[in-house]
Amino acid sequence: MAEVGLTDAMSQFSQPQFSQSRFSRREVLAGFLGASAGLLAGCEGGEKKLPPKGEILAPNYSIGHRIRDGFRPRPASDRWQETDVVVIGGGVSGLAAAWRLLRGGLSRFLVLELETVPGGTSRSGQSSLTAYPWGAHYVPVPMPENRSLIAILREMGVVERIEADGAPVVGEQYLCRDPGERVFIDGAWQEGLYPSAGATKRDLDELASFRAEIARWAAWRDHKGRRAFAIPVSAGSDEPEITILDSLSMADWLRRQGYDSARLRWLVDYSCRDDYGATSAQTSAWAGLFYFASRVRTADGESQPLITWPEGNGRIVQHLASRAREQLRAGMAVVGVAATNTRDTQAVEVTALDVARGEAVGFRARRVVFAAPQFLAPYLIRDLPEPRKLNAREFQYSPWLVANLHLRDRPRDQGFPLAWDNVLYESRSLGYVTATHQTGRDYGPTVLTWYSALCDEGSGDPPRQASIARQRLLDMTWAEAAEIVLNDLESAHPDIRTLVERLDVMKWGHAMVRPRTGFVWSQARRSAAEPFGPIHFAGTDLSGVALCEEAVYHGVRAAEEALRGLGRPADSLL
Ligand SMILES: Cc1cc2nc3c(=O)[nH]c(=O)nc-3n(C[C@H](O)[C@H](O)[C@H](O)COP(=O)(O)OP(=O)(O)OC[C@H]3O[C@@H](n4cnc5c(N)ncnc54)[C@H](O)[C@@H]3O)c2cc1C
Repeated sequence: MAEVGLTDAMSQFSQPQFSQSRFSRREVLAGFLGASAGLLAGCEGGEKKLPPKGEILAPNYSIGHRIRDGFRPRPASDRWQETDVVVIGGGVSGLAAAWRLLRGGLSRFLVLELETVPGGTSRSGQSSLTAYPWGAHYVPVPMPENRSLIAILREMGVVERIEADGAPVVGEQYLCRDPGERVFIDGAWQEGLYPSAGATKRDLDELASFRAEIARWAAWRDHKGRRAFAIPVSAGSDEPEITILDSLSMADWLRRQGYDSARLRWLVDYSCRDDYGATSAQTSAWAGLFYFASRVRTADGESQPLITWPEGNGRIVQHLASRAREQLRAGMAVVGVAATNTRDTQAVEVTALDVARGEAVGFRARRVVFAAPQFLAPYLIRDLPEPRKLNAREFQYSPWLVANLHLRDRPRDQGFPLAWDNVLYESRSLGYVTATHQTGRDYGPTVLTWYSALCDEGSGDPPRQASIARQRLLDMTWAEAAEIVLNDLESAHPDIRTLVERLDVMKWGHAMVRPRTGFVWSQARRSAAEPFGPIHFAGTDLSGVALCEEAVYHGVRAAEEALRGLGRPADSLL
């Protein structure tokens, strides 16, 4: 893309209300990310330099929107193929299902993925310098009970051995190297995520009390010996003392507990936005506490260390995709799924569009694993009963904007040095991760992956707010997105514009399911994972939280259901 000045950038706004002067430039930019207008100071006057190169990447929305509008091409009679199982979606859950089918001895199946590359929200990119993530970028060291993820990480060589108590031992080189985190506040970087410099005694007391509360929840067991908050979610307690936490927001829970330290509230809000794409007021208290307590294994209350790679969870995708390379068909948009039940047999017809050829193709399978997001089920699955359609509508997703900045050198810094995760206290963005961090090279060119969840849509009906934010995201031009990213980073790195050689942008319209108040323990969420005839459901959203572990769990579970349906029962890996 040619160099574009801010004036050109602003003239490309595609929404008419923005090209009229009802909003100032600053308000327009602030509106996209909920950033405070103060942070965008400087946007009003003069031209700001945008990077010389960059492009927008986005999932194939045009096909998605055509499917929504009823596009159902019928394959010619000679374009049908028989197979045992069709897996719909090649994200982590679909690839985990494929992995489990292969381990179950089944190779006659296909994975149909709409995009040209697998991975979904865990996909990654590659430059001549380094690989980098486009979405998911870490997974905590799994707890002993997370058998399928441990098995995958073992195959990858990441888990070196298993201790007597079942705990996996992860190779040092895969654990996030120090320094893991830093936060920018009051004009300088500090070590860690909690901004302790400048904190009052009251702030620190509240932090200690919150940590003690999390340690208490981490140690809590129900009468069946289950943790209050476990990963996968299905292994945790469903007793009322726990599920009741889903009926209030995390912000309300903090208030009720008497926590009013601005720094603690920020930490919790940041964590909800980072893991769920939702503010603490939008997140259920169950999910807020799950975020902190599910990752704590030891009595000291410390979270499990993080496993990461330059490309983030793209490394897991590559491993799983390489296992299923014979079954994986990328560029295949599924447009219809129809179960054809008779008294004795169950079969499913899956129709898809071969995107490159523009041709309809069909698959007759005995089982389907639906590993696409749940909100698509009513559009794709014929005769889905009305209650299931209503349930699917309860799944709401937050949009995310992600950018990869290719830098020719490290940006200038004040305070604590560059870490893997770099967070800006005064920003509504989530900051950035450094792709080269694990290489141990702390100088020279790098790639920064900047994240922001669009969760500040103001008051009103939440699905409508999310849909307005999604539309804003989809309408955003590259120059607008680049300006938002650079403006945000400029507060901490004044020289950032001079260092960026390329800035690419990803627009995730339905990035993460939102564990909003009342959703995680709703009947709608829990029953969505039940099979519909020969169709089995996978996808992290079935857990109400978007995590690699949950995607793996549901993929493996759905594949095991399918194997049983095919008369191939095997010992469960769950
Ligand atoms: C910005 C971002 C950061 C994240 N960071 C982390 C992280 O650090 N750690 C973590 O654990 N999790 C993270 N996540 C959560 C991540 O979503 C999950 O870890 C996991 O990748 C979800 O996998 P999935 O298969 O359930 O869903 P998806 O990734 O949504 O995969 C679904 C797949 O189905 C395909 N599909 C959709 N429609 C069709 C169709 N009609 N035909 C064929 N294919 C179709 C899609 O193209 C996609 O590939 C992040 C998510 C985002 C968006």
